[in-house]
Amino acid sequence: MHVELLSYTPDPLRLLYTAARTCYSAGRPAELWAETASAAAMQRLIEHIVASGHHSILEHAYFNFALGGISRSCSHQLVRHRLASYSQQSQRYVEGPFDYVTPPSWEGAGEAWGRRYHRVMGELNDLYREALAAGIPAEDARFVLPNACSTQLVMSMNLRQLVHTVGLRTCTRAQWEIRRLFEQVAAVVRQAEPFLGAFLVTKCERLGYCDERESCGRYPLRADVLDQEERK
Ligand SMILES: Cc1cc2nc3c(=O)[nH]c(=O)nc-3n(C[C@H](O)[C@H](O)[C@H](O)COP(=O)(O)OP(=O)(O)OC[C@H]3O[C@@H](n4cnc5c(N)ncnc54)[C@H](O)[C@@H]3O)c2cc1C
Repeated sequence: MHVELLSYTPDPLRLLYTAARTCYSAGRPAELWAETASAAAMQRLIEHIVASGHHSILEHAYFNFALGGISRSCSHQLVRHRLASYSQQSQRYVEGPFDYVTPPSWEGAGEAWGRRYHRVMGELNDLYREALAAGIPAEDARFVLPNACSTQLVMSMNLRQLVHTVGLRTCTRAQWEIRRLFEQVAAVVRQAEPFLGAFLVTKCERLGYCDERESCGRYPLRADVLDQEERK
């Protein structure tokens, strides 16, 4: 799996700061943009605004990623997040042989399971290539390709949607591959913009409790937190 941050909104801190100040200022946005403020002052305002639930400010900053080496099973989960843009490698226009992702559990289950897995992938690849050679169009030959098939995409998300998606998908309840994907997405944003990247945390870290049915132990369940509050 690889995740690269291709580009992102230039000067995102100043942009979010300008957007936030525009809400509370008589000045024109372009004037506010031209004013200088220290990084600390901009961060303080953005932190305050986000803490008060005024999350639309975050929608102004966009991040564009190159994602590769994830399975179609993972990309299927990914594109459920609707407030983002995706361009995915086509199986109609790009013909195999296909690469595939091997979940650690298949190899962890013992050598025989790992061998069977790779054998079936090889057989599917052979069938796929033979179908193409027999004149079956790629758009139909691909019907034999598995969920494991690896894919690549360009994904663009604004910061608000990134906060939401990283929050959901880095939870231990999320499937391992998409969890790993969004851990890496968060890591590349943190590397590029440490202050904004700090908003990209698992949802329990933001909430201060776990809103799942069972907690992994990192945070107590919401019901337990409410109980404690009531007992005070
Ligand atoms: C652990 C886990 C398990 C899952 N299991 C399943 C499963 O078994 N089956 C399954 O089908 N899905 C499953 N999902 C997918 C899940 O139901 C959501 O479709 C997915 O996480 C997208 O998130 P979202 O609904 O927050 O929407 P996003 O598309 O990420 O949108 C972000 C937010 O925008 C708002 N929004 C977006 N679109 C609309 C709209 N049309 N109307 C109103 N508000 C909108 C909502 O507030 C939403 O939270 C699972 C997700 C997770 C994290």
